[in-house]
Amino acid sequence: MKEKNIIGNYESLRTLDYDEMNEHLDQLQTFTEQAPIGYTTFHYPIRHFTYGTGENHVILTAGTHSVELITNCFLIHFMEELDQNPNLVDPNLFTLHFIPILNPEGTIILTSALRTVIPRTCTPFYEELTCLQYYMNSRLEDEYALKKDDHGNKLQMQMFRYADANCIDPKHKELRKSVQKLITSLPEGVMITWSSNGVGVDLNANIEHPRYEEEVLKKIPVYHELRLNQISKTTPGPVGCPFRGDAFSLEPENQALLNFYHSLIQTEKVVGSLIYHACGNQIVYLDEKYGISKEEAEYNRKIALAYQEMTKYDVLVQSRPTTMDYILKTKLPGTILIELGDIRSTPLSQFISCIHSVYDHILEDNQKAIIKTIHTMAHTIKR
Ligand SMILES: [Zn+2]
Repeated sequence: MKEKNIIGNYESLRTLDYDEMNEHLDQLQTFTEQAPIGYTTFHYPIRHFTYGTGENHVILTAGTHSVELITNCFLIHFMEELDQNPNLVDPNLFTLHFIPILNPEGTIILTSALRTVIPRTCTPFYEELTCLQYYMNSRLEDEYALKKDDHGNKLQMQMFRYADANCIDPKHKELRKSVQKLITSLPEGVMITWSSNGVGVDLNANIEHPRYEEEVLKKIPVYHELRLNQISKTTPGPVGCPFRGDAFSLEPENQALLNFYHSLIQTEKVVGSLIYHACGNQIVYLDEKYGISKEEAEYNRKIALAYQEMTKYDVLVQSRPTTMDYILKTKLPGTILIELGDIRSTPLSQFISCIHSVYDHILEDNQKAIIKTIHTMAHTIKR
């Protein structure tokens, strides 16, 4: 671990916008790009890359919640490391399936807003300072929400108050129109908090009989907490809304993901999957409470503990069955959800280096953890 401080050693920008992510992915040499697992409402491909041709298949996904930008950046960084150092993972033993941008529309919205304040041309040090400013503003707003019951404008969103639909490149015409419509009744700067897809549905909440189903159907607002307490989770928008319209429908991103898991499990030896979210420094697995076998629960726990060994993250048992990641855990033993970073406030705080080397730890510890965990999967599951 290279300890870094505020004075320097910031080599390049850490945040990637949607186009940059795709440019990085296009340059991979040892990976094979497969057909997209599917397309979003506004026709963006959900890209799928494989590394290796071994019998042990593992799925890795990032960016369900686009505001958790660190997950996309981490996974793409790991792919690049693997591309440069193929000795890290034996390609004859594993086939790794990477879906590094699970929610392309959300990522376009979020990173378009991000670039209004952190342009590509700024220095890495300016980026670090802006991330710090965002973090401190978020902390203050959390405190005001708790102590003063404050529901007013938020400083961290105010930083991004000039980010409206116009900051999205005109080439994304349909998406822009949709965002324009969604944000008219929302606070200024709200695009920097965008977790949902381009129609304002939160992909992790998008399951049948979700939490707050009745409130959604009756159009009763349920407000988010702390620094997001002026945003409703039951109306299409940046966060939490489980479906659009008057009845449940599965979003195309989730349909694609479920089809992908299903067909891969049918045809290959899939030993597990790693689903990245942020933040909390946590690893969440499924135990017997939800009807899986004792053996499956033990396997899940073993995988979670293997991941913990390299990250020291807390290991938790799944607490709520109302998320897409829960559904995926029930479909594939060895599936864990990982919450990157112990610093609050996405999308920017996880890119800070001068506080406990948060960013560097995320990148380095999780890389080691993936390698350790997939080997544990392969050794445990034999055919
Ligand atoms: Zn999340």
